[in-house]
Amino acid sequence: MSENSSRKRMVRADIDDVAVCVVPAARCCSPLRNDPLSFCGAIAAWLRPLGGGADPSFICDAHRLEGDLPLPVGRVFRRVRVTAEIFLSGVSQDSAIAQTEAIQVLERAVGELGGYLDLKRVWSSRVRAGLPPGAAPADQVGGDTY
Ligand SMILES: [Zn+2]
Repeated sequence: MSENSSRKRMVRADIDDVAVCVVPAARCCSPLRNDPLSFCGAIAAWLRPLGGGADPSFICDAHRLEGDLPLPVGRVFRRVRVTAEIFLSGVSQDSAIAQTEAIQVLERAVGELGGYLDLKRVWSSRVRAGLPPGAAPADQVGGDTY
């Protein structure tokens, strides 16, 4: 075995030992209404210790109370991963422009929520618009056909 290939194996082993984790911004856990799924959700900067061994809550500036602590580095949190297909109308007939702009829009929207867009694939196609959901077909109302 050459020294060069041995070095490559060492570098590879070092890389395998490093955990990679996308860490989105913490979001505020303050409830908003009597709805169990209604939370503030704003970017959190504070940690509210809860007694009784419960996990601490992440808190935004608006919901901060005395006794809340700055968010520590290395905090443990639940990261949610959603896999979906998202359809947007292209802003251009040029696929590269339409796709790049759509990615930017999604990155901005997800970023405003404190999330991170882990883009896997983007593509586009030319399609014919159909009727809006619930609309009567054009031949039944005498309108233009699409
Ligand atoms: Zn909040």
